[in-house]
Amino acid sequence: MKRIGILTSGGDAPGMNAAIRSVVRSGLSQGIEVFGIYDGYQGLVEDKIRQLDRGDVSDIIIQGGTVLGSARLEEFKLLEIRQKAIENLKKHEIEGLVVIGGDGSYRGALALHEMGVPCIGVPATIDNDIASTEYSIGFDTALNTVIDNVDKLRDTSSSHHRCSVIEVMGNRCGDLAIYAGITTGAELIITKETGYDEMEVLERLQHIEESKKKRHAMVIISEKITDVELLAEKISRHTNFSGRSTVLGHIQRGGSPTARDRILATQFGDRAVQLLLNDVSGQCVAVNHGEIVSIDLPEALKIPRRSRKDLFELHERLV
Ligand code: ADP
Repeated sequence: MKRIGILTSGGDAPGMNAAIRSVVRSGLSQGIEVFGIYDGYQGLVEDKIRQLDRGDVSDIIIQGGTVLGSARLEEFKLLEIRQKAIENLKKHEIEGLVVIGGDGSYRGALALHEMGVPCIGVPATIDNDIASTEYSIGFDTALNTVIDNVDKLRDTSSSHHRCSVIEVMGNRCGDLAIYAGITTGAELIITKETGYDEMEVLERLQHIEESKKKRHAMVIISEKITDVELLAEKISRHTNFSGRSTVLGHIQRGGSPTARDRILATQFGDRAVQLLLNDVSGQCVAVNHGEIVSIDLPEALKIPRRSRKDLFELHERLV
């Protein structure tokens, strides 16, 4: 293999750039030319492809987002659209592809692999919703952004006898909520896994206020579970707290990646290159018990999401 391509796809995540840098530098140091494909699978189909040299990835390890851009392209599920992508790869004599993204991007990589293009997936998503890896690139940075913001809300909440309801990203996977809830000492954590019962939430908050004489309370809730503004109004009406809602939104996607995300992305990128150079295809890299491993994509896509029951129980013991 003499030439490989790299693209970022789906939702962006801090640390994607560190992975791009790692793939480019690792490839170049082993005599491989690396081509950047801009705007994910869309750029592959539209031939937005350019060779990258060492200087192109200088200093990007500290930048959030992705210098290659990301996009979603529903039509990539169609065979004829993927054929167009393969023609472009052939035109540039690109023989292998590193795809940085989530499960959706993995499906695209698997489809290309099945059409004869060597592909390796690298997990990146702030939601940590890729079941095949313990951690994905971007999760740690997003979690730290949430912690920073929740800590600030706590300061003002305790001055005003408030209950802050904070909506965080991650609907399919409640990891941001549960990890943030534990690390900020939130009173309540609500995710898809815990379920949502409005009456129970109000009763628990009132109980916390009365029995523990708390000056404030924090509720961390995953997105798309309920309208947090309405919940805050009900908290004001039915408990002794004054309820306030905050939706953290896209702020969670940005920022310079943490040390942990930079290391993980760097290791993943380098491993992806090694796999391609060893003629491996149709796999994704992952972290399992702290080790960097690789897994066949069809198997990876079938792994069920982990339950966080142990973490919820830990949280309950400490509230
Ligand atoms: P993520 O990779 O973050 O999970 P998406 O689910 O939006 O994000 O997927 C990213 C892109 O991957 C899609 O826009 C599409 O181009 C491609 N993709 C998703 N599913 C498939 C599939 N079954 N076959 C081919 N390509 C797919």
